Amino acid sequence: MGWLLPLLQLMVLLQLMVGVHAAPLSNATMQARFMRRAIELALEGEAAGNDPYGALIADPTRGAIVAEGSNHATHNPIWHGEMSAIANLSALSAASVYAVAGELELYTTAEPCPMCMAAIGWSGFGAVLFGTSIPFIIGQGQAQINVRAAEIAARTPMHNITLVGGVLANETNPLYVKQAAAARRRAQGRAAEPPAAADEGETHGHAAHGRARHGRASHTHGKDEAVQLQARLGSVLQEVAAASSAQ
Ligand SMILES: [Zn+2]
Repeated sequence: MGWLLPLLQLMVLLQLMVGVHAAPLSNATMQARFMRRAIELALEGEAAGNDPYGALIADPTRGAIVAEGSNHATHNPIWHGEMSAIANLSALSAASVYAVAGELELYTTAEPCPMCMAAIGWSGFGAVLFGTSIPFIIGQGQAQINVRAAEIAARTPMHNITLVGGVLANETNPLYVKQAAAARRRAQGRAAEPPAAADEGETHGHAAHGRARHGRASHTHGKDEAVQLQARLGSVLQEVAAASSAQ
């Protein structure tokens, strides 16, 4: 039985290393305050031309917000609100994210996508609290990667992450109903645009019309280049075939 004590010591050590402990959870008043601030961040992101997703990291022991983030994914697919908040936490803290995350909560207006939930798992946040669910956003006709945060959490052996969904969902859901409606309007607007005209040679005096035509003209130019390139490639291949059959 001499092996039993070292084994128990190893198990305790492993538990300490993986941070198995119950982090304190904010009370309902604090949860509402933090989520309303995340909604403000989502609206700020939307006002800047991005999607309405906001996130923040809070210290439930002090009842204080530690770092904030909003969506900048219009041009950068990894710059989600949660990623932004984690990066901002890292920039703020003298300690590493790993050292402080266990005592902190991450709030996000919508359920973290698999990318963000994996980043949350690597960080080891004590709890994640979200408003709107992934199925709700998909139900609005919006594109989402359909893997639930709970599944990622269950497959993350390093940390026990408490997941709380539906926090102030009655206030976060309208963000995504509105976003989906705006996306449908944009899609309808594109569908209603007249197709590229065949009369590229005609001239028009109207300035706005001129700009629109310029856009189409350069697109056509790009297609011409592709056709020319294909033709050149075709003739090179013919030359190669001719040279090899002559040998
Ligand atoms: Zn994400």
